[in-house]
Amino acid sequence: MIYQQPARALIRQAVLAEPGRLEIREVTLPHPGPGEVLLQIKCALTCGTDLKAYRRGHPLWRLPAPFGHEFAGVVAEIGPEVENFRPGDALMAAPTAPCGECFYCGRGQENLCAQAIEKMILGGYADYLLIGSHVVARNAFHKPAGLPFEEAALLEPLACVVHAQERARPEKFESVLIIGAGPFGLLHMLTLRVLGVREVVVAGRGAYRLEWAGRLGADRVIDVCEIGAGEAIARINGGFGPDLVIECTGQVAGWENAFARVRRGGRVVFFGGCPLNTTLTVDTRRMHYDNLTLLAPFHFRPRDVRRAFELLCARKLGVGRIVDARRPLSELAEVFTMLERGAVLKCAVIP
Ligand SMILES: [Zn+2]
Ligand SMILES: [Zn+2]
Repeated sequence: MIYQQPARALIRQAVLAEPGRLEIREVTLPHPGPGEVLLQIKCALTCGTDLKAYRRGHPLWRLPAPFGHEFAGVVAEIGPEVENFRPGDALMAAPTAPCGECFYCGRGQENLCAQAIEKMILGGYADYLLIGSHVVARNAFHKPAGLPFEEAALLEPLACVVHAQERARPEKFESVLIIGAGPFGLLHMLTLRVLGVREVVVAGRGAYRLEWAGRLGADRVIDVCEIGAGEAIARINGGFGPDLVIECTGQVAGWENAFARVRRGGRVVFFGGCPLNTTLTVDTRRMHYDNLTLLAPFHFRPRDVRRAFELLCARKLGVGRIVDARRPLSELAEVFTMLERGAVLKCAVIP
């Protein structure tokens, strides 16, 4: 594996200064402390979470903050006590890891561990990034040589998808409706395909995204802006409606739609988080007498990261096709303008 020893004292790091304003700053090259690893970034991917933060800030990040949380690279330097990685190793990691000791971790709900969110590693859009000891110990993996860095960087979003699907438990005979044709909707679709689910319908907006959904293997694509979209969804399962609806827009209207569209006895996964201070009102008759199951999985657990890692290594998902653009780090501001326009699904940002 080829890697460059960091010779410069200064490196570039993208910072979200405030909503709508990205800066590439020069910062001092960090050196890893005990248990830490310095990663030379080979690829960082844009994410819907980043776009949301770019538009309106993020409830859990204090700005200005280093930006980018989906990354893969090569170990440039290791700190004392690091035993599982050596300089030159290709590494892929989730940006978070739970403490393993708190109330939630003790109940197997590591996705709710405070540490997982508070100590999230941000700063993937950079030349180098320090990987904290908590992640090195629990959620970092050796990237196989045959797996491109672009695909390895999908570990975090795929772990979220794996976690959600484990909660929803899709069955082979089921018809699944995905609302939202962005990268997360498409990752869900590709994962359901590998599980062998009978029918996957993607409902969304935007000609470019819908075309991609079809090309990547959706059985049916429904443009929600077109007249008749509602009837087309209602016809799923011979008129019973979808067994499982996965909501990936993070908009209250999408959540309401998911609740309204699922079949009697079906499950809804509210996957996309909505803006702060929004509420969902549900019809109690429908909820109870139609026997609905509502799930709202958030984040992931180490076992989901492990499963996502295995799926990526097996290379059966074809997830690499979701990365449809590549730009140098210096053009990051333009990348976010493209994302805003919906002109790209997921962009690989290369230092
Ligand atoms: Zn992400
Ligand atoms: Zn914990």
